Amino acid sequence: MQTLTLGPITIDRIVELERWPFAPAEMFPDITDEQVTAALRSLGEEHVDPRGRRIVLGIQTYLVRAPGLTVLLDTGNGNDKHRPALRAHHMFHTAYLDRLRARGVRPDDIDVVVSTHLHPDHCGWNTRLSGDTWVPTFPNARYLFARDEFAPLEASFESRPEDPLAADLARTFEDSVLPVVKAGQAAVVDTPHTILSAGDVRITMRSAPGHTRGHVVVEIEAGGRYAVAAGDVIHHPLQFADLDLAQGGDHDRARAAATRRELCEWCVDHDAVVLTAHFAGPGVGRIVRAGDGYRFAWPES
Ligand SMILES: [Zn+2]
Repeated sequence: MQTLTLGPITIDRIVELERWPFAPAEMFPDITDEQVTAALRSLGEEHVDPRGRRIVLGIQTYLVRAPGLTVLLDTGNGNDKHRPALRAHHMFHTAYLDRLRARGVRPDDIDVVVSTHLHPDHCGWNTRLSGDTWVPTFPNARYLFARDEFAPLEASFESRPEDPLAADLARTFEDSVLPVVKAGQAAVVDTPHTILSAGDVRITMRSAPGHTRGHVVVEIEAGGRYAVAAGDVIHHPLQFADLDLAQGGDHDRARAAATRRELCEWCVDHDAVVLTAHFAGPGVGRIVRAGDGYRFAWPES
């Protein structure tokens, strides 16, 4: 994606992983063969791999440079993270920080880090290994966590869960959140939370629950134009054909589907650029009405 400019704000996509393939039922437990075939036809091989009939996602984060404030929205999966149950998240080794530097930003330059939620692929680069210790990757940043997201995960971590999936999420708290708290760099906030408000520029964390209890989206407004970091409200463009299609990790499927519809409505009303966490290809675009529903409009290339 080209750098996106909204008034005095620039937004760059920082890709952690270009292609992250999954068996369709692993990503969307109720998906039908017909839906996979229709998605391949309408979206192409960039989004559905025809050989293994795999759903293709990516992992990406967004660098937002506003006057006086450099913000990172989501931090991807991170390197060296041990995830024995969540195998798709296990032991990444990517050049993510080099890609950030290639955009002219060093870890020291980041002022604020926001995670849309605390699944491993959204807070992983919060920390990095230094020797055998996890340390904050962004030493000068304030890391913002929504209270409704932070508190249940902290409680789960403290209960030392034995269930393998819950244990991997607790491990995520331990290696990607707790070191930030111990460094005094964490701020647990109630939503909506204003990150920046100056002139006609606003950056806001807003509650968007369903995928997780405390999931947030981050709305960016500048000069009457809008963008939104959507996190895991939507995972793949095939979901526009069936907004009720639940993702395997959804905490509350009905709430997640309602939030997806609310996001679509808001984006159409505001002609907002959607900064997706997981769409392969360009990763960003606009949501437009199509019949009774919506479709994704990719940027003109
Ligand atoms: Zn995710």
